[in-house]
Amino acid sequence: MQISTTTNPTPVDDARLAEIHANPGFGQHFTDHMLTVEWTPDASWHAARIEPYGPLTLDPATAVLHYAQETFEGMKAYRHADGSVWTFRPEQNAARMVRSSQRLAFPELPVDDFVELVDALVTADQRWVPDNSSGGGEKSLYLRPFMFASETFLGVRPAQHVTFMVIASPAGAYFKGGIKPVNLWLSETFTRAGRGGMGAAKTGGNYAASLAAQREAIEKGCDQVVFLDDQEFTYIEELGGMNLFFVHKDGSIVTPETGTILEGITRASIIELAGKLGHAVEERKFSLDEWRDGVASGEITEIFACGTAAVVTPVGELRSPSSVTAAPASTELTMQIRDALVGMQFGRSEDTFGWMHNVC
Ligand code: PMP
Repeated sequence: MQISTTTNPTPVDDARLAEIHANPGFGQHFTDHMLTVEWTPDASWHAARIEPYGPLTLDPATAVLHYAQETFEGMKAYRHADGSVWTFRPEQNAARMVRSSQRLAFPELPVDDFVELVDALVTADQRWVPDNSSGGGEKSLYLRPFMFASETFLGVRPAQHVTFMVIASPAGAYFKGGIKPVNLWLSETFTRAGRGGMGAAKTGGNYAASLAAQREAIEKGCDQVVFLDDQEFTYIEELGGMNLFFVHKDGSIVTPETGTILEGITRASIIELAGKLGHAVEERKFSLDEWRDGVASGEITEIFACGTAAVVTPVGELRSPSSVTAAPASTELTMQIRDALVGMQFGRSEDTFGWMHNVC
């Protein structure tokens, strides 16, 4: 793909960048550049542009503002001790964006182009990738590729003008001062996705659908929402932004099957990794009763959640309007899996799966 880069960059100065890197938070500070590619039916994907980061000017009738035809991805760039910069399985994010695009009636951006475009922005903004060489930290550059219906038209049909962009934002460690279990709120009122719906796509509408439940969770002092299936309100689906795993006392692991959940790249990696560590991993329906009874009887020894942001985190209490389920006592396998993934991502342990992609 052709990529042009601005001849008029306006880089943030070193002192300000050092300040941001000292305390990046999440999603608050953005890099010097953004990457944009347009799609039209006549020319397919146009040449890409890397330009100074800045606001977009949109016509009020831009289709995405009305009908939410949008998909996005979430991934990270990691700086290794030798200064090199890497991403984790970017072709998996690219492939998921293709699947999301199919569900959202978008044109497909080829996997190789996606990876090349993300690499181009990370390379242009490589000084924004935080350095963890002192102290074994987990700072990274969060990458947000996204695609939206940019046609100015109020008719309800797939857009004839589509824009793909990549922006980037330094991210601090998800956990400051040690890993802390996430407390979960069980939504008994709202579901996030349904049969034939968009649950498996990474599209803004799914997150909009989760927010009323997330507001409830915050009111109840919980970090994330557990969503149940929409048919029977019986089976565990996933959290608002993470997938779930249940470890049994015989070492076997269960994770909810795909269909209406987001197929997490961390989830897929853990299924492979745990298999290699000798654990039987099953993807199947897993009920709320199995969770509650399994913790009470000791059949379930660990529960963890996973996703790009936190990598792997132990699950704490499950609260609902009518009951509280305690956290299982152990986090041994949870931490083993977490350390293995974090080790690969930051280049502190060997990449035995070939999952890391060198950007620059
Ligand atoms: N489920 C949902 C709803 C999510 O938003 C995320 C975060 N992308 C995940 C699961 C985990 O996916 P991944 O491991 O690819 O970050």
